Amino acid sequence: MSETRIDAVIVGAGFAGMYMLHRLRGLGIAAVVLEQGEDVGGTWYWNRYPGARCDVESMQYSFSFLPELQQEWRWSERFASQPEILRYAAHVAERLDLRRDMRFHTRVTRAAFDEASALWTVETDGGDRYIARYCVMATGCLSTAKLPEIEGLGSFEGATYHTGAWPHEGVDFSGKRVAVIGTGSSAIQAIPVIAQQAAHLTVFQRTPNFSIPSRNAPMDDDYESWWKSDYEAHRAKARMMRTGILYGLNDKSALEVPPEEREAEYEARWARGGTAFMGAFSDLITNREANDTAAEFVRRKIRGIVKDPKVAELLAPKGYPIGTKRICVDTEYFETFNRPNVTLVDVREAPIEAITPRGVRTRTGEYECDALVFATGFDAMTGALTRIDIRGRGDAGLAEAWADGPRTYLGLMAAGFPNLFMITGPGSPSVLSNMIVSIEQHVDWLSDCLAHMQARGLTTIEATLEAQEAWVAHVNEVADRTLYPQAASWYMGANVPGKPRVFMPYIGGVGTYREKCAEIAAKGYEGFRLSAGAMPAAAAE
Ligand SMILES: Cc1cc2nc3c(=O)[nH]c(=O)nc-3n(C[C@H](O)[C@H](O)[C@H](O)COP(=O)(O)OP(=O)(O)OC[C@H]3O[C@@H](n4cnc5c(N)ncnc54)[C@H](O)[C@@H]3O)c2cc1C
Repeated sequence: MSETRIDAVIVGAGFAGMYMLHRLRGLGIAAVVLEQGEDVGGTWYWNRYPGARCDVESMQYSFSFLPELQQEWRWSERFASQPEILRYAAHVAERLDLRRDMRFHTRVTRAAFDEASALWTVETDGGDRYIARYCVMATGCLSTAKLPEIEGLGSFEGATYHTGAWPHEGVDFSGKRVAVIGTGSSAIQAIPVIAQQAAHLTVFQRTPNFSIPSRNAPMDDDYESWWKSDYEAHRAKARMMRTGILYGLNDKSALEVPPEEREAEYEARWARGGTAFMGAFSDLITNREANDTAAEFVRRKIRGIVKDPKVAELLAPKGYPIGTKRICVDTEYFETFNRPNVTLVDVREAPIEAITPRGVRTRTGEYECDALVFATGFDAMTGALTRIDIRGRGDAGLAEAWADGPRTYLGLMAAGFPNLFMITGPGSPSVLSNMIVSIEQHVDWLSDCLAHMQARGLTTIEATLEAQEAWVAHVNEVADRTLYPQAASWYMGANVPGKPRVFMPYIGGVGTYREKCAEIAAKGYEGFRLSAGAMPAAAAE
């Protein structure tokens, strides 16, 4: 048990924590990173399930702040696999010598603000304390694995796994009867790979998801050269795109073109693969009728791929617009259901009643298995933050303040929690974007803000309640202009029983959001109160 006084504590050693540490060093701010895992990489450290892969192209899912590295690094595939991304993270840590300021196996349990000194006390599961002026939560939006609330969970006698906490040594499913619970993005990646190995695979599906083939392939040399020939310019364009990803967006409405042209556009994007499918027309996320044309196209594709019409119908998503739950990207997902060793179980029709010592029992029968894989996702966006006992002014808890849904200013700060920053917090584009672009933007904005404060002898910053409430209203208003709130998605907190249904990320677009943040900074950090030393609560309002 120790006590350390330091300028800043960063929680999390994923890409956000890594880049934050690098920028703080550049400002001469002494910082330590506390991470519960045993190395860097965050998402790519934890999610080692078979088939784990990025669905943003490799040339774009990487840091842009290291111009030499982005020229030198060679991605082997169009979409990088988890091991390759983890190698990349380790390389960046090595190159910038980040690990010397990181403490692994260290879970932050509490962070409390002292109003008199304007300092945070951060406590860890090992009983260590860090007293710091700044506390940066780089805890990740998808870092708190979620197990389903099913009776008998602990009674299963075989091996159980969660895709988000996969064993480092890997798992050999050869000859095994495997059950996968869940059909979200992780499951869609894992199922085709597990099916190739397992004796039998049973997939338990509640909600089918839309998925587009990735058409993953070895990196094309010409494509790589095109990116590298003018990386900075391409990155600059990507930063202003709605999703932070550079791809062709069609500015026509799906309803203004003749059916043949619409079909041809979808076909071309289906053939090219990846999430750019959703850029086929400008109104796919705002107009239900337009959206239906894309959704029906994908359903037709599924019916064309899956041979058993009953299975195809179960796999074809209905009842919510395409793109409003995270769009998935796969390699032979639907084809996998043509294999003789794969069974699909519809748990909407016959819900899972219990996990038993031998397998999974639904209302209509028991499915025996040797291994159980939970691909049941995460307590997204807020889970990692609310699991830490964060106490701001007046000892108020963040979890309580967010009981009806997260409230932030720009997804960067919450009123009443001075000098506590969130990287890609709720209320920012975060999970709706190429997250590395969003991480870099937040870290850069925050670093510039701290430099601004340093230059003026200011040490405390806090979002005003007024600015926060206006931002929350704006986030909701923009979300309500889209089809997103129509789906019971994890964006809405719908996968966690009891979690308030609030659309958490900012859908206004990465470029627009970036401009707003820059404008706020240019106006002297409008909506924030900056001061030297402790600031009484009254002055903060
Ligand atoms: C399976 C999967 C696939 C994904 N694919 C894509 C994709 O294709 N494109 C994309 O843009 N994004 C994708 N993402 C999102 C991904 O999370 C981000 O791209 C990015 O890696 C987030 O980096 P981060 O540093 O913000 O958070 P993370 O990588 O989640 O890192 C946060 C770290 O904080 C640590 N931490 C949390 N709480 C504590 C605590 N209390 N104490 C100590 N440490 C703590 C965690 O252990 C973790 O290591 C994917 C996510 C998942 C789970």
